[in-house]
Parts: sequence; C-alpha cells; structure tokens
Amino acid sequence: MGEHRTDRIAFIGLGTMGSRMSQRLVAAGSEVIGFDPVEAARADLVEAGGRAAATAAEAADGVDYLILMLPGSRVVESVLGDTALLDALKPGTPVIDMSSSEPESTRKLAAALAERALPLLDAPVSGGVRGARAGTLTIMAGGPDDVIAAVRPVIAPLGTVRHVGATGAGHAVKAINNLLAATNLLAAAEGVAAGRRFGVDPGVIIETINAASGRSAATQLKFPQNILPETYDSGFALALMLKDMRIATDLARSVGAPAALGERAVELWSHAAADLDPAADQTDIARWVNRPRTP
Ligand code: NAD
Repeated sequence: MGEHRTDRIAFIGLGTMGSRMSQRLVAAGSEVIGFDPVEAARADLVEAGGRAAATAAEAADGVDYLILMLPGSRVVESVLGDTALLDALKPGTPVIDMSSSEPESTRKLAAALAERALPLLDAPVSGGVRGARAGTLTIMAGGPDDVIAAVRPVIAPLGTVRHVGATGAGHAVKAINNLLAATNLLAAAEGVAAGRRFGVDPGVIIETINAASGRSAATQLKFPQNILPETYDSGFALALMLKDMRIATDLARSVGAPAALGERAVELWSHAAADLDPAADQTDIARWVNRPRTP
C-alpha cells in the first residue's frame, strides 16, 4: 500500500463509499476520526481501528485534513456551514469534498472557507464500491496546484488522483462522467430489451457487444455483474445517479452547451425514479425499461 501515513484525518459521511474509504485510510496508517449520524456506521469505523466522534465538529478538532463523503451539496453546505466545525479546524487545514457535489456550490463554499484560510478541494470519485474497497478509485480533483500536491499522498490509498482544473472542475467532470454512464446504461438496457424480444439471448448480446464498438462500462461491468444475474446490487442508488445527471445538465445549461440527449436521459431516469422504490439501485433502470406497460 506504499508509504505508511501518520496524518490525523476527520472523515465525515461513513456510508456506502465513506465506510470503505475511511477504512482504507486507517489501513494506510492515518489516524481517522469519523462522524456519521448512523450509529452502525460509526461502530464499523471503530471496529476497523478508527475513532468515532459524536459530531462533525468534534471529529474536526485540530485534524490535519477534513474529508467529506456526503450525499451531495445540500448536506455539504450544512456541514461546512457549522461554525463550531470551522472553528475546530486549524487555519490552512485542507477540506476535501469527495462527494459528487455541484460545481457552483463548491466554488461558493471555497470562497467562504478562504476567508478563514481553509482551502477547499473537490475530489469526487468514480469506481464504485469495488473501487472504494480496493483503493482503485479515479479521483477527479479540482483546486490550486499546491493544495492538490499537499493532499495527493494523503488520499493516494484511495486511488489515482487526476488534477482536472481549478476549484469546481472535479465536480464538473464527475457529473459529466455520470451523465454519460447513465445515458450509456439506459441505451444498453433498451438495446438488450430489443434484442431479447427478437429472440437473442441477453448474455450473448452483451458478450458480443463487449467485443464490438457499442461497449461501455454498462455492458462491460453493470450487465455482467448486476443486471444479467438479476441482483441489481451495484451499490449506487438510482436517486444519486439522477442527482448527478441533473448537475451535468444544469452545468451545460449554465454555460450554453448543447445537452438535448442529456436532458432526455434525465427525463427518462426521472420517470424511473418516480416509479421505483426510493432505495432503488442504478441498475434497476434496466428492470424499469422492461416494466409492463398499459397500452
Ligand atoms: P450513502 O447514502 O451510502 O452515504 C452517505 C452518508 O452520509 C450516509 O451514511 C449518511 O448517514 C451520511 N450523512 C448524511 N448527512 C450527514 C451529515 N450531516 N453529517 C455526516 N454524515 C451525514 O451514499 P454513498 O453511496 O456513499 O455516496 C456518497 C457520495 O459519493 C454521493 O455524492 C454519491 O453520489 C457519490 N458516489 C457514490 C458511488 C457509489 O457507488 N455508491 C460512487 C461514486 C460516487
């Protein structure tokens, strides 16, 4: 796992991704103080050798780095709007938002935190639960060169850091990535549905497309791992994917970029979200495509 670390890291948000990521940091030698309102999530970190705090502000007290892995910008804004937490941080402490947040919100938060000499980096991730567990995430970092350089070795146990631009750029690229991933997944689900109804075995369709030009992460990973076995258990909520798709189409709108296909994908995924259980997995979109319809 490389060099043994001795940093003190506060880790806020110990959910599907944050639990695995915080535990990797513990395994890399860092002292990790975690907070999540869910007690079981705090207990898991303690069992893995970390420490749990009763509040985010308590976790942040005097640490070297603060990492956030929260559902999205509203929660990030509320955590970073807590003056007790900000007062608990030493000036200069890097704040690293690894959640898939909104680039505009990130820029505003970075400006507000700069007044307290707290640099905010965006460092969202791709690679899912498997990548979080294995430390093979792609980390899309936005922010100043010197802060990225300081943070790089600390988060290296989580994956590969790609510095994509200024503050907010990481969150922008992450949202664009997920809009593509979601559009590809829906397109693949429609393609497989058509082929199957024509009488071709879905496994054969996927194997063949994976040796041809229509392949994507949807056909190479999600169909073989979660959809063909009918487990629908990728670990990434459909609601979170839809949140990211909207971030990307809002971004396109704000800069006047074309997003006709993206807007249509958002519309279809919104219908799926309305029809399905709030806890549905992103891969449930393939089940939704095949739903019985009233004529
Ligand atoms: P999750 O819902 O499993 O985890 C979020 C955690 O945040 C929960 O444990 C929740 O209790 C906690 N939380 C909520 N409010 C909080 C607060 N005020 N203080 C502290 N903790 C709080 O979500 P996840 O799947 O781990 O995703 C986290 C982020 O990573 C999201 O932005 C998501 O879009 C992104 N992401 C997820 C995946 C994936 O495969 N699951 C992959 C890449 C990126």
